[in-house]
Amino acid sequence: MKKLLLILLCVPLIGFGQTKDQELFNDALKYENSENFELSIEYFTKSIKSSNNKEIITKSYNGRGRCYRKLMQYFQAEIEYLAAIEYNPTHKDAYANLSWLYAYYLDQYELAISIANQGMVYDPEMWNLYFNRGYACIKLEKYKLAVLSYDACIMYYKGNPANSYNLRGVAKLFSRSSSSRDDYCDDFKKSCDLGSIGSENGCKNYKNIVCKIEGVCNPDTAYIYIEWDKELPPKYFSTLRDTIDWKIKYKTCPVCKKKDKVIPITYGLPGKELMELSKSGEVILGGCVISTNSPRWYCKRDLNKF
Ligand SMILES: [Zn+2]
Repeated sequence: MKKLLLILLCVPLIGFGQTKDQELFNDALKYENSENFELSIEYFTKSIKSSNNKEIITKSYNGRGRCYRKLMQYFQAEIEYLAAIEYNPTHKDAYANLSWLYAYYLDQYELAISIANQGMVYDPEMWNLYFNRGYACIKLEKYKLAVLSYDACIMYYKGNPANSYNLRGVAKLFSRSSSSRDDYCDDFKKSCDLGSIGSENGCKNYKNIVCKIEGVCNPDTAYIYIEWDKELPPKYFSTLRDTIDWKIKYKTCPVCKKKDKVIPITYGLPGKELMELSKSGEVILGGCVISTNSPRWYCKRDLNKF
C-alpha cells in the first residue's frame, strides 16, 4: 500500500514540466534571462524541432525573435516574429513584438501601425499594441490617432503610465487642432508627478517648454523630450537635436516653401547645450524677451524670420 501511494505521488511530479520540449524551452528562457542570446537561440531552435505543442513552438519563435533583436539583428528578428504569426495567427505577443520592432528599430511606421491593429483584433485590451501604434503615429505626424492610442494605452496599462502620459502630451502639443494648452500641460504634469521611469521627460517638458516659465514660454521652438529604454540603439535616444529635427520637419518657410533650411529661434537664457547648437548654426538665440508676435523660425536660405 505504501509503495502504491509513493508511485501515485510521483507520477504528477515527473509529468510536471518535464517533457523534453518544455525542458528545452525553459533552458532557452534561462539563457535569455542571463543574456546569453546565442545559446538561447540554440535552445529555442531545439525546442521547436522537438515539439508538437503549438504554444511552445510559437513562444520559441517569439523567443528567437527577441534574442535576435537584442543582438541587433533586426531583420532576423522580423523573420522570427512573422514565422510566429504565420504558424499561430492568434498569438498576440507576436504582434506586440513585431509592431515594436517596426516602430522603434526599423523605422517602418506604417507597418508598425498595421501589425498593431491586427493584434488588437485578438486582444483589444493589450496596452503595448496601443503604445507601439501611438509612437509610430507620432513619427508619421498622425497626432490624432496617436492621442487615441495613448488614451487606450493608459487605460489598459497595469503598470506606471508616466511615459504614455508624456507621449500623449507630445501628440496633443503637436496636433494643435483640438487640444488646448492646458490639455497637454496636464499630461506632462501627470507624467512628472508619477515620479518613475519616463517621468523625467514629463518633468522636463512641463518645466522647459510650454507650461510654466515666465516670459520664456514658446511652444513653437521648445524642446520636446522623448525617451525609451536604454536597450535601444543610440539613434533612438532623444536628444535636443532629435527634437529640433522634428520641429523643422514641421515648419515650412513662407518664402522658399521649403523646410530644409529652417531652424528654430529660441528665447530665454540659453543653457550649455543650446549655446553649442547656436554656434553650429542649428538654432538662433532670440534673446530674453518674447511677445506673441516674436518670430519663431528662421530660414537660412532666405535669411527670413517668421
Ligand atoms: Zn526659405
